Amino acid sequence: MPTTAEARSSEETISLFKQYVIPNYTRTPISLVRGEGSYVWDAEGNRYLDLFPGWGCDIIGYTPPRLVRAIQEQAARLIHVPNTWHIEGQGEFAEFLCTRGFGKAFFCNSGAEANEAAFKLARLATSEKKYKIISFEKSFHGRTMAAVTATAQPKYHQGIQPLMPGFRYAPLGDLDAVRELVDDETCAVIIEPVQGEGGINVPADGFLQGLREICDEAGALLIFDEVQTGMGRLGTWFGYQHFGVQPDIMTLAKGLAGGVPCGALIATDAVAPSLRPGMHASTFGGNPLAMAAGLATGRTIEEDGLLDNCREMSDRFRAHLEPLVDELPIVRELRTCGLMIGLELTIPSKEIVAKCFERGLIINGTQDVVVRLLPALNVTAEQVDEGCEILTTALREAAEQV
Ligand SMILES: *Cc1c(COP(=O)(O)O)cnc(C)c1O
Repeated sequence: MPTTAEARSSEETISLFKQYVIPNYTRTPISLVRGEGSYVWDAEGNRYLDLFPGWGCDIIGYTPPRLVRAIQEQAARLIHVPNTWHIEGQGEFAEFLCTRGFGKAFFCNSGAEANEAAFKLARLATSEKKYKIISFEKSFHGRTMAAVTATAQPKYHQGIQPLMPGFRYAPLGDLDAVRELVDDETCAVIIEPVQGEGGINVPADGFLQGLREICDEAGALLIFDEVQTGMGRLGTWFGYQHFGVQPDIMTLAKGLAGGVPCGALIATDAVAPSLRPGMHASTFGGNPLAMAAGLATGRTIEEDGLLDNCREMSDRFRAHLEPLVDELPIVRELRTCGLMIGLELTIPSKEIVAKCFERGLIINGTQDVVVRLLPALNVTAEQVDEGCEILTTALREAAEQV
């Protein structure tokens, strides 16, 4: 483990960025160099409690020992071989995912890439005239051209027109609007079971079931983008199980391999064969290193009982945060589902994010006014208490200043 003494200072790293890294991100002026569980350290040795580790990718925390060991052992044996061979770990990880979910798996490296595969598969697996795809306002499906077109938020479409043809947008929760958009050229409806970047938006009872029925009537596929909701985030292996609605395709990434780049598409046995040899590919997809990381992540979640911990810690967050809705006028609503936690405010969430950061807590702000947490599934009760205390203090302070 590198000690902070060996690391470049944050300032040195920032100056390299200024010279050589394309400035397409807004970055906090801090270089993070080491992590353990839900804690992370910057180059100056400051420790932070991170309730948003890796945007949800570090789903079992930073440097979980079994994941580290699995990566080390696999790296020493075989890092990469192409998909022209059978890859031991790929079969094993596919089995792990599909026996806890359904169908068959295709592996890639990211959420956007998994969604691109889903769009191609939806067009391939339905009749030839079907090509239209319906998505929802405030959705987030990634930044590649089709994925960003499916992402129904104008701010992500600025300056990159023309977008991909065939995409249509419906308001979240409006089944009638979906019914009106669906026609005999519709091949799929794509939705996040719980919207993440859109502000932790949990669908109303019956909405996902309604989409299932509309898709069945129209001969269209239902795609669940589970890049954020999958891999235990909602207290079930996959979000569709929490809601009791079976999709035809689900896409996974973010926490799938505990922070090692890895994406997947899972398709039912009926749909999967439409990706015939040569129809789709990903050079790095499903390589031995990523598969070893995915398996170690999955086994850790299972063996450590982290689905149970997810549900328990979700309740604990609620118990801390729910009273704030009545107490503080700046807190409009609390929305939670498993360890996806959103607090909608009446003030810019970035003020709260900054106040928490000053006190050593990392959280996220999205959609201008929503505070978002995606804690690791192995976050402890003490860490939940510590984080909620800092967040509560920051909110009370901000409420006084309004
Ligand atoms: C993050 C995210 C994506 C995009 O994933 P990348 O790995 O950044 O391409 C897609 N869908 C959802 C729901 C996400 O949260």
